[in-house]
Amino acid sequence: MRDVHDVIIIGAGAVGCAVARELARYNISVLVLEKECDVAYGTSGRMSGVVHAGFNNKVGSLMARLCVEGSNLFEDVCRELDIPFRRTGKVLVAFDQDDMRALDRIMAQGKANGVKGLRLLDEDEIRSIAPGVGGIGGMFSERTAIFDPFEFCIAHAENAMDNGVDFSFESEVTAIRKESDVFSVTTSKGIFKARLVVNSAGLYCDKVSAMAGVDKYKIYPCRGQYYILDKVADRLLDIPAYPVPKPGIGGLGVHLTPTIDGNIIIGPSAEYLDDPDDTATTAEVMDKLFAEAKALLPAIERRYIIGNYCGIRPKQAPESEGGFRDFVIKEEETCPGLINLIGIESPGFTASVPIARMVRDMVGSHMDLVPKKDFNPVRKGRVRFRDLSREEQQKLIEQDPEYGEIICRCQNVTRREIRDAIENRFGARSITSIKYRAWATTGRCNGGYCLAKIVDMLVRDYHMRPEEITYRSSGSELFSGEVK
Ligand SMILES: Cc1cc2nc3c(=O)[nH]c(=O)nc-3n(C[C@H](O)[C@H](O)[C@H](O)COP(=O)(O)OP(=O)(O)OC[C@H]3O[C@@H](n4cnc5c(N)ncnc54)[C@H](O)[C@@H]3O)c2cc1C
Repeated sequence: MRDVHDVIIIGAGAVGCAVARELARYNISVLVLEKECDVAYGTSGRMSGVVHAGFNNKVGSLMARLCVEGSNLFEDVCRELDIPFRRTGKVLVAFDQDDMRALDRIMAQGKANGVKGLRLLDEDEIRSIAPGVGGIGGMFSERTAIFDPFEFCIAHAENAMDNGVDFSFESEVTAIRKESDVFSVTTSKGIFKARLVVNSAGLYCDKVSAMAGVDKYKIYPCRGQYYILDKVADRLLDIPAYPVPKPGIGGLGVHLTPTIDGNIIIGPSAEYLDDPDDTATTAEVMDKLFAEAKALLPAIERRYIIGNYCGIRPKQAPESEGGFRDFVIKEEETCPGLINLIGIESPGFTASVPIARMVRDMVGSHMDLVPKKDFNPVRKGRVRFRDLSREEQQKLIEQDPEYGEIICRCQNVTRREIRDAIENRFGARSITSIKYRAWATTGRCNGGYCLAKIVDMLVRDYHMRPEEITYRSSGSELFSGEVK
């Protein structure tokens, strides 16, 4: 690795990875520092997976502009990087006359933001687009889509790496010092130096900024809990269904979203917390989520639930101020060379590529950005065995018999796919990293069947000691030693 990089990016979430890929297009040296062992371990791995169209954001805000730009770019980026994407559209469901009046305001806001494909729906139209959904009317957004958020981060990081960006995982930034135009960034793995620093540390962006001497931001963590339903999307709901958002709730309201893999997620709640790492789910909120989901889609039953999770929004405004404050994306005047990305909450994923382009322009004001002649924007994603035709599956099994053995029976994941996930480019060998890449352990049995087989592969084929195997990162070891 170089003595001094041109740019250090702190954080390998959706935004950090998108910035890394954008800067990989140019002849500069870039290093990404991430405290966890893999990408998408922060908020980016704990969200709804929706490409927002941009009608929820305040007219004239950076959020609105970047969301609409991002939504327009998203499909092309997914095609280039082989990221699963589906343009589902979305319905906003009104339950009373107040909601209907709010819809007029939301439509007008969407149009002012430049969102195409919005139209009001009467009760019959809503039933024909989203059969089984309740409500007295609503709005349809044609541009809304769903995608695979894990694959988005992995794909951007892999493509950045292929095009020359360095990554250092398990490198928590603990101090930043600037001396004669060079930043010294101290991490748990040593000191790295760069001319510019991009702070995309998500929930910790305020702390990272303060490390560089810009101590004026405060993040108010706001937790959103979710239920995960089994693969019932094709039977129950194949389009995101949201209630009309109530002002000041800190989110978009509890919604139902089909995932790219055919599950449905219910959530998120909105609860302000002190601890940005408090990813617990609570029985009280879970009950509320179920009741609100049932109002939207009465056919939902408790027996469909297979799991839960939560994500935490990096809000800049406390609950008492209604939760909204616009993204801050700027180079700090008091610390030239520090590019701060502050409060990148929803729709931050949708906006990640335009954010990356803004950062590129800021970097370009410090150094010549010469496009690399050999930049390759294309990345080939993983084999999804279960999505292939019988003939394609048979062909793969003939090429490699490991495609013939199912390791995860809920999701039909083969031994070969698990091996590809274990042999990932970043060397991340936690169960979560394997899950993000092969989607094993995510079905109804929650890993009851496949986890032992994955552990067996890690021990036998990759010579890991059982005590080294973690669920996420260090501190989540699965085994403490031999029983006998
Ligand atoms: C409940 C919920 C639902 C959402 N739904 C949507 C949606 O449907 N569509 C949408 O567009 N957006 C959605 N969002 C918003 C979106 O998820 C975020 O805007 C986006 O993921 C932010 O990405 P990021 O890279 O800025 O942050 P993160 O993903 O949090 O990444 C920050 C990274 O920085 C690392 N880091 C932190 N501190 C340090 C340090 N000191 N040293 C090194 N590394 C560090 C972290 O480990 C982390 O990996 C949702 C958010 C939530 C919470």
